[in-house]
Amino acid sequence: MDVLATIAEIRAATDAARTAGRTVGFVPTMGYLHDGHVSLMEAARRDCDLVVASIFVNPLQFGAGEDLDAYPRDLPRDLALSEAAGVDLVFAPAVAEMYPRPVLTTVSVADVTARFEGASRPTHFAGVATVVAKLFAIVGAGRAYFGEKDWQQVCVVRRMAADLSLPVEVVACPTHREDDGLARSSRNVYLSPDERAAAPVLHRALQRGADLIGAGERDPAVVEAAMADLVATEPLVGLDYAAAVEADSLVSPAALAGDVRLLIAARVGRPRLLDNVGVTVSGSVP
Ligand code: AMP
Repeated sequence: MDVLATIAEIRAATDAARTAGRTVGFVPTMGYLHDGHVSLMEAARRDCDLVVASIFVNPLQFGAGEDLDAYPRDLPRDLALSEAAGVDLVFAPAVAEMYPRPVLTTVSVADVTARFEGASRPTHFAGVATVVAKLFAIVGAGRAYFGEKDWQQVCVVRRMAADLSLPVEVVACPTHREDDGLARSSRNVYLSPDERAAAPVLHRALQRGADLIGAGERDPAVVEAAMADLVATEPLVGLDYAAAVEADSLVSPAALAGDVRLLIAARVGRPRLLDNVGVTVSGSVP
């Protein structure tokens, strides 16, 4: 596995692979890797000839007062995990390599960023869309792998790639969880033992919402209230939102139909944790 720090080097490597007819898969990350990241790398390994992962804590997607400086980092461990997952090239640039001058050009995606994470973090998705567009331009992969864990991010990146006709297929991979249902996240290291014990209530709430829909409930407000009520049983968990929305647009429908996404976010001690599940609503009420 090669570790490259400059745009010129990674371009040269992926250009050579494409010229030789090899397919290139790309997994963008902010490092501090866990099994969720590894599952994306393994999916890319199965599908593609050359697997590129990036490790870059992107300052553009952190707002003032967020955890940019404190964001956990461990490059030697990340490189070992990447190599074990079958990654061929790691792109680990310095901030000055990615942003040598003040950034005057940004990518913003409307509507799908208006609610949920975009409401709590107003500059976050422009930071994500800008760095992902830039990384796509640098790496030139045919397929890029993202986690469903960050469902709104998947929607933003898919829409950006479609609107800008970027020649990349955005592949969404299932959320990796701990045995008790907690979605793996680099930010889980911030949880105290009590908070860690309380955090799986988020996944239980999503399951309760999915069960209600499975039992025939079609009113999003009823599903949302049931999820919120369950989260309220854990005093250490401060709910931000619990929502039942159309999966691609993230719009709240009058009645649940087709592909639905249940989204949840909560403050658990220091970190805000996110989770979601998909539910497909069939035409008939069981
Ligand atoms: P991050 O390093 O947090 O920016 O995440 C990099 C990629 O890994 C994103 O596409 C995330 O959605 C994905 N990811 C993070 N956590 C998980 C998880 N538990 N399961 C699957 N993918 C994940």
